[in-house]
Amino acid sequence: MDLNKLHFKNFLPQLKEEGILLHTCCAPCAVEAVERLKENNIQTNLYFYNPNIFDKEEYLKRLGEVKRLATFYNLDLVEDIYDPESFLCQSKGLEQEPERGKRCFNCFKMRLEKLRAYAQDNKFRYTTSVLGVSRWKDFDQTVHASVVAFLGSTGTEYLPINWRKGGSELRRQDLIKEQKIYTQSFCGCPFSKKITEI
Ligand code: SF4
Repeated sequence: MDLNKLHFKNFLPQLKEEGILLHTCCAPCAVEAVERLKENNIQTNLYFYNPNIFDKEEYLKRLGEVKRLATFYNLDLVEDIYDPESFLCQSKGLEQEPERGKRCFNCFKMRLEKLRAYAQDNKFRYTTSVLGVSRWKDFDQTVHASVVAFLGSTGTEYLPINWRKGGSELRRQDLIKEQKIYTQSFCGCPFSKKITEI
């Protein structure tokens, strides 16, 4: 698969037909994707499952910003459970991994598995995420995690949209400024926080 070809516009026929359930990790990563979806009249629902975010205060802050985004663009938002112990459990032995390493692969997979389950239960045909938007993330790794997470899924599919394609980064930065969106200084887990504090 040529990952460079995974441009938003190539998925428009499916998106226009069925809409999308968008896994949202945080508002700064989602805002430009949401604007593009709205501009193209795509039925969009936001889904928030991020047990990797520590501590609870930080989690609530990011969730609050996603709620603000949903209100601004008039979108429905589902908040799934916050179970940070599940994240810590699956990260055991991987604490020292660098960002973009095995711990991050598991972290993406875990969140996308939950997305798949929610989409199946609630009859969403298409899903995607903004997990690969940040330049600190490995977009290919998010796609590989989605392939594993959606193995054997029935009735729902993950569309591996590469939101970085299409000159969107400048627009994303503008929207963050315009809407005064909180931008965090670390990815989310305690291990990523430690690195920024060194
Ligand atoms: S660095 Fe980010 S993607 Fe990687 S495990 Fe931590 S929270 Fe998840």
